[in-house]
Amino acid sequence: MFSGTALVEGLRQRLEEVHGRMAAACRRSGRASDAVTLVAVTKSVSAQVAAVLHRLGVVELGESRPQELWRKAAALPPTVHWHLVGHLQRNKIDRTLPLIQLIHSVDSLRLLDALDQEAVKQDRNISVLLEVNASEEAQKHGFAAGEISALLPHLQRLQKVRLAGLMTMAAQVADPQDCRPTFAALHALTERVAVPPPHDLHHLSMGMSNDFEVAIEEGATIVRLGTVLFEGIPGDRP
Ligand SMILES: *Cc1c(COP(=O)(O)O)cnc(C)c1O
Repeated sequence: MFSGTALVEGLRQRLEEVHGRMAAACRRSGRASDAVTLVAVTKSVSAQVAAVLHRLGVVELGESRPQELWRKAAALPPTVHWHLVGHLQRNKIDRTLPLIQLIHSVDSLRLLDALDQEAVKQDRNISVLLEVNASEEAQKHGFAAGEISALLPHLQRLQKVRLAGLMTMAAQVADPQDCRPTFAALHALTERVAVPPPHDLHHLSMGMSNDFEVAIEEGATIVRLGTVLFEGIPGDRP
C-alpha cells in the first residue's frame, strides 16, 4: 500500500545512494562531481512518485514515450526540465517541442529536419542529441557510429535545432565492464569529429542503472537512471 512517508524516505535514501555512487565514479576517473547530470527516467512510476523526486531536488526528469511525457508534464510543476529519451514519431513533434529541455534520441535525418521545421514554426530553439546505436544491435534505433561524421555537413541547414552531443544505450550485459569499450568508443568519436558551430558534441548521454558508473568513468556527462532509483520503492505505478 502507498504510504507517503515511506515513499519520501525511500526515495531520499535511493537518491543519496545514487549521488554517492556517481560522485565516487567521478573521483575514480578524476572528474569534477558536477561534471555529470542525473536524469531520472520516470517511465516506471506515477506522476505522484515523480513529483516527490522533484521535491527532493531532482530537476531533470526523463520519459521514453512522448504521450507519457505530456501526461506527466501536465501533472508536475513547470520547474521540471523534461528530457525525451525514447523514439519520437514525427506526428508528435508539435506537442512535445514546447515541453522539453533536451531530446536525447534523434535517430534519423528525417526526424532532425522535421524537428527543425516545427521549431521554426513555433519560433523555439531546441537542443538535441543524436542517438548512436553503438552496440550495433538491429532492434535498436539510432545512427551507426561510422555515419556521424558524414551527416555533420547537414547540420548547417538547421535553423532552430542545435546539436549538443551524442546518446547511446549499451547492450544488455551481465557485467557492466563489458560496456566499457562501447562508451569509450563514443567518447573518442566526440573528440575526433569536427562539428560546425553553433553545434557541438559536448554532451555524452550514456549510462543506465546497470552501467552508469562505467559510463561516468568513460566520460558520460548525463546518466539516465530509472530502476536504481525506483525499483522496490513503495508507491503506485502509472
Ligand atoms: C528506461 C530507460 C532508461 C533507464 O533505464 P534503467 O535501466 O531503468 O535505469 C534510460 N534510457 C532510456 C532510453 C530508457 O528507455
